[in-house]
Amino acid sequence: MKIVLASNNAGKLAELQTLFAPLDMTLVRQSELNIPEAAEPFKTFVENALAKARHAAQLSGLPALADDAGLCVDAFGGQPGVDTAYYATHFGYPKGDDTNVTALLEQMQGITNRRAAMVSTLVAVRSADDPEPLIAVGRVVVQITPERRGTNGFGFDPVMFLPEFGKTFAELPPEVKNANSHRGRAAQAMLVLMRERWMEGAGA
Ligand code: IMP
Repeated sequence: MKIVLASNNAGKLAELQTLFAPLDMTLVRQSELNIPEAAEPFKTFVENALAKARHAAQLSGLPALADDAGLCVDAFGGQPGVDTAYYATHFGYPKGDDTNVTALLEQMQGITNRRAAMVSTLVAVRSADDPEPLIAVGRVVVQITPERRGTNGFGFDPVMFLPEFGKTFAELPPEVKNANSHRGRAAQAMLVLMRERWMEGAGA
């Protein structure tokens, strides 16, 4: 079975391809099928991930898998949430991973509660009209460091500190991030759902 990955984020795609490699499916990036990015107008991760998955399934005629992720900072009442990718633009910076980190570090200056959750919501549909999408959520609690540490990963990884490892995600090897990240946790749950519901010989 082929499944379209409904994302154009290179860092995210690399992780998803590794995380879903155990599945007996060929993963195709939506850009390879000339599918443009879907609009993400909603307030919750699950609604946006569902919109992205439906859009990719509609335009490809294939099952699709989408991830909507974001950073929920305690000191900001859980924001920026679904607006995470555009965070920097609210402070006069262009959209981008590096500007996002710069804006976050500036906005957190002087704030002692540095706790945040990184959230990943994965949604998979068999077709654009699938009435029973598969939904898996993963989250990891981190501390936002006062400066960047490490060069692995993408997005906010250089400032996402995991107390249990004493390192940021950007200081950890990709396989350790994948085993302990929001996306890794969501992917493990999604693999179970796909095997149960979609694979040959699946139960009810
Ligand atoms: P989106 O889900 O593609 O809209 O991404 C939301 C935002 O979260 C982007 O700014 C990403 O860079 C960031 N992001 C998503 N996943 C991760 C991650 O695993 N580590 C750090 N930042 C991430």
